Amino acid sequence: MNAALSQAAPGAVERPEATVHAGGRATVRAPLPGAPASKVEAQDVSVFYGQKQALYDVALGIPERAVTAFIGPSGCGKSTFLRCLNRMNDTIEGSKVVGRITLDGKDVYDPSLDVVTLRARVGMVFQKPNPFPKSIFENVAYGPRIHGLARKKADLAVIVEAALRKAGLWDEVKDRLDETGTGLSGGQQQRLCIARAIAVSPEVILMDEPCSALDPIATARIEDLIDELRRNYTIVIVTHSMQQAARVSQKTCFFHLGYLVEEGPTQEIFTNPRDKLTQDYITGRFG
Ligand code: ADP
Repeated sequence: MNAALSQAAPGAVERPEATVHAGGRATVRAPLPGAPASKVEAQDVSVFYGQKQALYDVALGIPERAVTAFIGPSGCGKSTFLRCLNRMNDTIEGSKVVGRITLDGKDVYDPSLDVVTLRARVGMVFQKPNPFPKSIFENVAYGPRIHGLARKKADLAVIVEAALRKAGLWDEVKDRLDETGTGLSGGQQQRLCIARAIAVSPEVILMDEPCSALDPIATARIEDLIDELRRNYTIVIVTHSMQQAARVSQKTCFFHLGYLVEEGPTQEIFTNPRDKLTQDYITGRFG
């Protein structure tokens, strides 16, 4: 948590009337006419790490085949909420998620739901590129193989090529598929991780600050890729960069101290925020 935030106790920040936090609702705009349906819906989601509450009654919808950005100061709960969407928080000891999250209307926390299948449908790309210490080919082939998506070796090769093409990496690696994935540049490694996520045909791709370890050129490449991928995938990106949120997303959700303060079409959030906290954040008054 940064210094400004660590000094600011909840309630110490001046909030305008429009903001109704504890147990209330964020400032939410009506969907634009023709806006895509929500792929993921969250209702009253609270998350606890032991005694500590990290998220309070978050309710929001993630539109299908669009990019949704989560912004807000460090420690406000963006990654925590992202991890709820494919139950990655289940892997954190002492964490507890309450409320309801649905994917295509089905409860993702239903005990009968197969978490492995859920995580194939809702893939994840992390902050630091994390290819396996295996060949480029094997990095991408791993998922389809364990999910039984290819019966023959030739089928696997087709899936790997298609995923690498969609991730914009094929031309750079097609002659060296047997070389190790960790030998690629940082930006290429991140595109390899995106190919790895794509290879199991996900519907949703969660990206947790996917460019924070990359230089500006590699970042621009990933942003272009995200813009292309949204035609086929529902994408949620956590970013500390407001410029990045403005460039790549169609919907933005602003979190602060565990609350969802405001959500809406990205252009409106950045040009006409309704909540004073959002306005202060996007104009750089804190964060
Ligand atoms: P952001 O992504 O906005 O930086 P996080 O979701 O990482 O915020 O963190 C939200 C709050 O939850 C912070 O106070 C953080 O310290 C706490 N937190 C996050 N992960 C854990 C964890 N694994 N164990 C305990 N507390 C955690």
